[in-house]
Amino acid sequence: MPLLRGEKIKEEKSEAKGEPPRSAVCQLVKISLPDMPFILCGLLFLLGSVACEILIPCYIGKVIDGLVLDPSQQAFRAAITRLAVVAACLSFCTWARTWMFSMYVARVTARIRVGLFSSVMTQDLDFFDHHETGELVARVLSDVAVMGDSLSPNLDLCLKGLFCGVGVMMLMVQTSWQLSVLSVICLPAFAVSSHIYGVVMKATSKSSQEIMARMGEQAEENFANIRTVRSFAMEARETQLFHRAVTRLYGNGKIEAWTHSTFQPLTLLILSFLQVCALLYGGHLVQRHILSGGDLVTFVMFLNMVNTCVQIINSVFGLLTKGIGASQVVLQYLRRKPSHTATGTLVKSYLRGEVEFKDVSFSYPSRPHQTVLNKLSFRVKSGEVVALVGPSGGGKSTCVSLLQNFYRPHSGHVLLDGIPVEHYDHRCLHAKMSLVGQEPALFSRSIKDNIAYGLDACPDADIISAAKQANAHDFICAMSNGYETLAGEKGLQMSGGQKQRLAIDRALVRQPAVLLLDEATSALDSQSESKVQEALNSSREGRTVLIIAHRLSTVEKADRVVVIHRGRVVEQGSPSELLTLGGMFTSLARHQLLRTDSSAILN
Ligand code: ADP
Repeated sequence: MPLLRGEKIKEEKSEAKGEPPRSAVCQLVKISLPDMPFILCGLLFLLGSVACEILIPCYIGKVIDGLVLDPSQQAFRAAITRLAVVAACLSFCTWARTWMFSMYVARVTARIRVGLFSSVMTQDLDFFDHHETGELVARVLSDVAVMGDSLSPNLDLCLKGLFCGVGVMMLMVQTSWQLSVLSVICLPAFAVSSHIYGVVMKATSKSSQEIMARMGEQAEENFANIRTVRSFAMEARETQLFHRAVTRLYGNGKIEAWTHSTFQPLTLLILSFLQVCALLYGGHLVQRHILSGGDLVTFVMFLNMVNTCVQIINSVFGLLTKGIGASQVVLQYLRRKPSHTATGTLVKSYLRGEVEFKDVSFSYPSRPHQTVLNKLSFRVKSGEVVALVGPSGGGKSTCVSLLQNFYRPHSGHVLLDGIPVEHYDHRCLHAKMSLVGQEPALFSRSIKDNIAYGLDACPDADIISAAKQANAHDFICAMSNGYETLAGEKGLQMSGGQKQRLAIDRALVRQPAVLLLDEATSALDSQSESKVQEALNSSREGRTVLIIAHRLSTVEKADRVVVIHRGRVVEQGSPSELLTLGGMFTSLARHQLLRTDSSAILN
């Protein structure tokens, strides 16, 4: 099924919270354009079923008049036959329109869900700095579900109620204008009660959704960090917090229940009063031969139909408003475009792997006033191994993020082979550059799929050879299903060292021109570390390696060290050169970097 086909979602800066529902409806209509055949057919069958429903009271009136006024019973038989045909048509049209509308909502919901996921996936990374994972999951899963569930049956019913109500009212005027004038007197009471109902339902639905999103965030955070929660003995406190949110949700539920149970009987009361008045006044008109007995029956049946229509609209309006409320938030995410709209198109099959930071200044969008990098410059030659060191918070990881084009510098350039990284095609850039982070993320897929993640085709031989290089092959083979073993949720089945080795394997299998290591061997035991280090040393042939290092055992193998402090390069040179300088590197080495192996360099 083509999703978001032929659709241009307009970029809007305003947050959906303050937007009128009209804009959500307009956008929903836009998104629905590819499904117009379903809507049009649905509307056609809807008109057919409304016409049939309206005709039924007319024919019942004719049956009665035929029975009373025509002794030959011919009119009676003709009316009965027409009534049966209309009833059959009504059943068919009802089936067809329900199917069409349900299909329409199912298709639109599916398209919105995929579009929403894709929109979130392509946002700038600062979007994720601002939004909790739980909130995003709630938007993509539960909000779209609320939207679909509340729109699907109710759109059909609401439209039917509306068309049927209008059609019936027109025929009521035609049947008896005197009784119609009497009915109009009660209209303001309907309008006021419906308005209050709609306002209350919309407000509670929006607030419930916000509470649900926060609950989702909390649940996700707690389940994901269960070890931390347990180690601080916070289970009871977290449950209390969750309970508080549930209580607020329950409060909204109570308001909704009260509103729903009050307004439905109120509408019924107004209409029953109207029916009694119509029968009293209608009986008087029949006695004076202004109206036939059949027409009075038809009119009272019409009143009943209006009653039903108003009841339907009243009860589904709240649910429909709930759906539109949910869609407002969903559509806001769908419309959102990343600020880095112009993605590069440069594709290169070979890269030398030269990296250069040229007067780069940068602040994170979430903290625009904090300068993280301040006219930072350094170069890494092709095939060089450079260690970035410096006090925590100095900007080392930020350099790696900028090199991967996760953020854009405010001024200056981050160059790869002399070309700004943002000019490269997204896939090409990341195929030539591999990162092994401190906390390797593994997906709930097989080990093989985790290693080949992002590669269109990867021969098993390459995976195994990279695994051997990363010292991961033996432990993978020892697992129950070898390379087909599931890595489990977030790789929980594996030790930190094993996960780290898999991440290194994943990086090496891509044969990157630039290898980025963020203290990548930190989780390994000393035996594994030395083996992986050996593997990394041998794999640096023909590629540039940039290591964020905190340990001297890592630094000492680098060709050059760049010391970064407060967003600037304060020293650079070979490890031994820097140690003779007696500057920041020496001080770091004395206080942080050095363990037993440091003495060899210092002496
Ligand atoms: P280092 O790697 O040298 O420890 P970082 O590059 O991680 O330093 O961080 C540099 C500064 O940027 C720190 O003050 C840190 O708090 C801030 N920072 C890092 N990541 C983000 C982020 N995603 N959003 C906002 N500020 C951040």
